[in-house]
Amino acid sequence: MRLILLGPPGAGKGTQAQRIVEKHGIPQLSTGDMLRAAVQAGTEVGKRAKAVMDAGKLVSDDIVIAIVSERIDQADCENGFILDGFPRTLVQADATEAMLKSKGIELSKVVEIQVDDAILADRVSGRYTCANCGAGYHDTNVKPKVEGVCDRCGSTHFKRRPDDNRETVVTRLGAYYKETSPLIGYYYAKGKLQSVDGMADIDHVTGEIEGILSKL
Ligand code: ADP
Ligand code: ADP
Ligand code: ZN
Repeated sequence: MRLILLGPPGAGKGTQAQRIVEKHGIPQLSTGDMLRAAVQAGTEVGKRAKAVMDAGKLVSDDIVIAIVSERIDQADCENGFILDGFPRTLVQADATEAMLKSKGIELSKVVEIQVDDAILADRVSGRYTCANCGAGYHDTNVKPKVEGVCDRCGSTHFKRRPDDNRETVVTRLGAYYKETSPLIGYYYAKGKLQSVDGMADIDHVTGEIEGILSKL
């Protein structure tokens, strides 16, 4: 199963990807996470990406295409993968097509998660994750069962992303509409697109996505 999760910042791509990972045992390939790891490690790519990410703009196509191409070749991607946050431009979409073709594999589906702009800023500004295991939470929507303790691993350390503030969300949403939303038409025309209502609660969205995956 080779999936793409498409949607604006805060739509719930990462949240749903984690659930697909647990249920189907295929890895989540998040270019955002990979870039943040590169920034943390202080690599050349990380140094080039940091200011761009903090400003809410898109990192250059060359960089992300190279990162994904390398990642897909790893053994754990053999039975499939979930692309979360990639492709994000038409150039990246064409590169993905060429990449998969050269490896002799086909894209299964593109799942678009639809959410109204009005609530995206709340989703993004309230987002935080467990610093130990990466489990996702939200200040009001998704609280740990015991305050300050991760449900999944018991850690008491959490983190927030520097770009998850209301000012940057406006830029990120602009980038989404300008650069990424054309992919909706791109994949629709290829017969690959399926859309789900991302305004519903998390379990409901998961159910809708599982309905799509069960038909593959
Ligand atoms: P994305 O990866 O698309 O940017 P996330 O999965 O990180 O989005 O979700 C953004 C925030 O919204 C997180 O704090 C998450 O817990 C919360 N969230 C995700 N899906 C929903 C939902 N269906 N309803 C309410 N909150 C949600
Ligand atoms: P979100 O979950 O809010 O959609 P991501 O974690 O996917 O955000 O991405 C965070 C930032 O990383 C983006 O604002 C952008 O700067 C950079 N980035 C991630 N994926 C890509 C990509 N495919 N192309 C260009 N830039 C990317
Ligand atoms: Zn945890």
